Amino acid sequence: MPRALPPLEIWFVVGSQHLYGKTALDQVADNARRMVAGLNASGKLPVTLVLKPVMTTSDDIRALCLAANGDTTCGGLVLWMHTFSPAKMWIGGLSQLKKPFVHFHTQFNRDLPWGTIDMDFMNLNQAAHGDREGGFMHTRMRIERKVVVGHWQDAEAVDRLAAWMRAARGWAALQGAKFVRFADNMRNVAVTDGDKVAAEMRFGYSVLAHGVGELATAMAEVSDKAIDVLCREYAETYSMTADLKQGGARYRFVCEQARAEIALRGFLEAGGFSGYTDNFEDLTGLKQLPGLATQRLMAEGYGFGAEGDWKTCALVRAMKVMGGGLDGGTSFMEDYTYHLDPRNPLVLGAHMLEVCPSIAAGKPSLEVHPLGIGGKDDPARLVFTAATGPALNASMIDMGNRFRLVVNEVEVVKPPGKLPKLPVARAVWSPKPDFKTACAGWIHAGGAHHSAFSQAVTTEMLRDFATIAGIELVTLDAGTRIEQLRQDLRMGEVYWALSQGFGKV
Ligand code: MN
Repeated sequence: MPRALPPLEIWFVVGSQHLYGKTALDQVADNARRMVAGLNASGKLPVTLVLKPVMTTSDDIRALCLAANGDTTCGGLVLWMHTFSPAKMWIGGLSQLKKPFVHFHTQFNRDLPWGTIDMDFMNLNQAAHGDREGGFMHTRMRIERKVVVGHWQDAEAVDRLAAWMRAARGWAALQGAKFVRFADNMRNVAVTDGDKVAAEMRFGYSVLAHGVGELATAMAEVSDKAIDVLCREYAETYSMTADLKQGGARYRFVCEQARAEIALRGFLEAGGFSGYTDNFEDLTGLKQLPGLATQRLMAEGYGFGAEGDWKTCALVRAMKVMGGGLDGGTSFMEDYTYHLDPRNPLVLGAHMLEVCPSIAAGKPSLEVHPLGIGGKDDPARLVFTAATGPALNASMIDMGNRFRLVVNEVEVVKPPGKLPKLPVARAVWSPKPDFKTACAGWIHAGGAHHSAFSQAVTTEMLRDFATIAGIELVTLDAGTRIEQLRQDLRMGEVYWALSQGFGKV
């Protein structure tokens, strides 16, 4: 589980009305109770569902929505109309609601009781048109939302619900979150920059600058004893050569990362930060670029962006929260270099140092090598190769009038060679639908060289996240065709220009 996951629940809200009498409403409430108990017992939901009273009046609905807004443990609502629930009753509440909702178009009974069905049964179990009435209102109010269709014991439908709950959890983790930015963005780099005011309005997180000197001061205060203790933990956790262990000739290089890790963790905890960025161009007072330190803090669940990339930092944090508890990890990543063999073109993803060991196959090796950029001491870092299998890269960019999330599904493969000289952690993948289409599509969409890479988070979760956030999503997957994508991007310009209005982002 990622560090400091916010306590969260999702409210299960059932709509009805008073037309059918108390007996019917009692039955609705009882059915809803059994459904919530069953869904919670399914073992598939990442967050607990909490049943709310059956909604039958506009006053109830408004009070519920206002209560949801004011309850920080409420990550969102599941809405379902067991019976008909006239949707004008929902306008007042939904127009106030600030929490995300998913529309679960389901029904208590799976099968129709063909031999006994009568009008009472028909009136009690009428989501088929109650949810159409609700859906009209959501659409009429221009509320973007996910619609999940299926019986509540249908495993596929529950998976759709669970994915949305993960997106809602990632969204909740950003609300009020703070990220610290040590130094500014890398000089002259475009895609890592953007509008932090717009980001706070849209995503609910703030990005706060602190001088790297503050970190240097905190590092100077770390005791040698604390460093030795942490270095012993390293020796127990990773493969290391003897010269990097206590008493070894290059132990001091490892100590410098332990010093950075302790200082950074203390700084993040004291400030209530969910992640940080740094920049190798400004390491004033630091002997090394944080490498091992950043890798370990990411593994704890902190967001991270290199070269001042605060958008990717926040995205890494949100995706770590989304994927928490699932197999596979999530990391800051960069498309670094290509293998252009036409029979098997591949991308080698890595970074100078900062790749999260949560994505590693096997035990990482702690090594010290020169960096080649930045003119600082040789930093300690974890070296490993990412586990094979399906994964994705996600990139958040600022289009000036909106944010766009670009997602590319990839298949991580075993590197064709052993890479004995490559001193950094890496992932080697084949992007979907194919190398040329994926690269061209990513570039047409403006995707960054930095991304959040995940083996746990799915395109569906990110689609749900984009829907909740009200941002544009561009997906590159097995079905992508480049000319259709380019046309979609052109049409998207029109849609977003019209839908955003003035002053929004
Ligand atoms: Mn970079």
